[in-house]
Amino acid sequence: MIPYGRQSIDEDDIAAVVQVLRSDWLTQGPAVANFEAGIAERVDAKYAVSFANGTAALHAAMAAGGIGPKHHVLTSPLSFVASANCARYVGASVGFVDIDPSTWNLDPRAVTQCDALVAVHYAGLPCELEGLKVRPRVIIEDACHALGARTAAGPVGNCAYSDMTVFSFHPVKSITCGEGGVVTTNSLELAESMRRFRSHGTVAKPQYGGWYYEVETLGFNYRLTDLQAALGLSQLDKLATFVAMRNALADRYRRVFRDLSNGGIVLPPAAAPGSKHAYHLFPILVSQRRNVYDALRARDIGTQVHYVPIYRHPLYADSFVNPLDFPFTEHVYSGILSLPLHPTLTRGEQDIVIETVIEAVQSNSNRAEVDTSAINNAA
Ligand SMILES: *Cc1c(COP(=O)(O)O)cnc(C)c1O
Repeated sequence: MIPYGRQSIDEDDIAAVVQVLRSDWLTQGPAVANFEAGIAERVDAKYAVSFANGTAALHAAMAAGGIGPKHHVLTSPLSFVASANCARYVGASVGFVDIDPSTWNLDPRAVTQCDALVAVHYAGLPCELEGLKVRPRVIIEDACHALGARTAAGPVGNCAYSDMTVFSFHPVKSITCGEGGVVTTNSLELAESMRRFRSHGTVAKPQYGGWYYEVETLGFNYRLTDLQAALGLSQLDKLATFVAMRNALADRYRRVFRDLSNGGIVLPPAAAPGSKHAYHLFPILVSQRRNVYDALRARDIGTQVHYVPIYRHPLYADSFVNPLDFPFTEHVYSGILSLPLHPTLTRGEQDIVIETVIEAVQSNSNRAEVDTSAINNAA
């Protein structure tokens, strides 16, 4: 099996976790603090607050931003469902902004007034937020694909145009904790609010005794463990290497498919000059996606559709979205397929993927007169 994404773990990572197992702290000890400091430094943010996973981190960011019932949140429909669910967790309503066909990120110029915006850096390509025409009260970057990406304004995570930036450390992401998430921010107030939120809302009041704490707000147990943080910190050392390997593999896909004489493959948007792509995913557009998907699966190649637009899920039926209002999202969705891309993918494995994609696309064009300029088969 060649998976579309997977972790890359070495002996240093294993030793780092084992060291925690031999220590006094299994959770919220020195490893968590060190990991948070490491992430904050890496992305040029003042604060980093860790969570059990990226979804919990998004929930905390919404709550810290004061988003709740009667508020309206906008996000990209071409994302993982957690980008929208985080608004529902706090009782807010969700709307969507169509993607820009030149980036596959939500089009910042099309964002209308809302209480919060969740801007997703799709596939690892930064969503350029200086293009916003309105200023929502809260701007959250869902950078779960984009640790290691940069814009002209610096590393994604420095919150140059946002209040908070969310990262995930699921095994398919840039680096992993097993499960884990972080929110970066430059606001002490937001950081403190998120620290309370992840730990039952407790606030220590030592002036009334060393034992004394109070709960003023509703919180959760969303804590990252030291075991996970030690793995994350060890992985962070390798982030630059991992992102460089992902970029090299992506460049190779681009070179081979661009030279393909019969076309039939649309490549994903590349980074603009001055910005850097983290390449969490390498999604291409093909016609007759079902055939290409089946051909890849038949050769044990993992591939996935990222994503079924969020408004198409039955959970979002009450958002009353008409897919016709999202022509660019629908167009991309109709042909999209992610090819394997991760630091442990070998050149030989990539050759097999490339060969299989080319064969499948060519047999498509032999099977029928396919109009590749209008990829609109829904399945
Ligand atoms: C992975 C991901 C999340 C959720 O992160 P988890 O750590 O799996 O909870 C949220 N948004 C996007 C865009 C993601 O890719």
